[in-house]
Amino acid sequence: MKNKLYSQEILEEVYQLIIKEGDQGEVAQYIPELSRVNPDKFGAHLLTTQGESFGVGDCQTKFSIQSISKVFSLSLAYQLIGDKIWERVGVEPSGNPFNSLLQLEADEGIPRNPLINAGAMVICDILISNLKEPATDFINFIREISANKAINYSESVARSEKSVGYRNIALCNFIKSFGNIENDANEVLDFYFHMCSIEMSCEELTKAFMFLAHVEFRTKENNRVLNRHKSKRINAIMQTCGFYDESGEFSFKVGLPGKSGVGGGILAVHPDNYCLAVWSPKLNEKGNSYRGMKFLEQFTTVTESSIF
Ligand code: GLU
Repeated sequence: MKNKLYSQEILEEVYQLIIKEGDQGEVAQYIPELSRVNPDKFGAHLLTTQGESFGVGDCQTKFSIQSISKVFSLSLAYQLIGDKIWERVGVEPSGNPFNSLLQLEADEGIPRNPLINAGAMVICDILISNLKEPATDFINFIREISANKAINYSESVARSEKSVGYRNIALCNFIKSFGNIENDANEVLDFYFHMCSIEMSCEELTKAFMFLAHVEFRTKENNRVLNRHKSKRINAIMQTCGFYDESGEFSFKVGLPGKSGVGGGILAVHPDNYCLAVWSPKLNEKGNSYRGMKFLEQFTTVTESSIF
């Protein structure tokens, strides 16, 4: 492909430029634990499919990955039940905020896609029905695909979100009223809040997402996570639905499949080339990391590595 070689220098060049341009936005306020994060943290990590690894700033500091984990839960559910998933959740961008209730009434409890909160709750429900010990099996799945036993839930973040989770509680019960949640709503919500509370660094995220970038990826145990057909579909959903109602903008400016979280993290995948994770806690008005978006836009511009 026509691009400059990925290097430490390029990552640093982009990092310095974004620092110079200054930060804007606000750290997520609606989850008390997240509002206490140092707003000036900023790091990025790049891992290529060739195994080259480059990091800048706070790339080894763990943070709350929040909705980025929705890609892990979707991938595990897809591995477990295959295309039956699409009977319970759609694949269309919602064009609405991540926690919106608006479309569910008209869509009779079938969420538009698995990366908005409503869709992620249906995926949690599928995992609860198909795993023996959902919370343990799910964290073990992430540990296995990233060969890293040090990945964990944050009980304090899960508890904090639950204490103010009015909208998510409403969403889950609303979907259940249409029959699209099989398990107890409280159990689904508890799993959902835990899933969102997982803490990882940028470096850990790039390793964990390699199964979507590298077609030959195998775990240490020599297992394939998803076949090419399935990882193509997950990348397509990230491309069209990964940034709430800013997904079109991200596609337009960055040109990569990706997923953001309200903890300020963004993970982007360039199939067959690299995984790139950025973390900066201040969010723009759509709930995506302000500097994270800028960083990725600049990176794909200087390396000419948008997928388009
Ligand atoms: N736990 C967050 C919520 O449900 C996740 C939101 C996000 O990162 O998009 O509100």
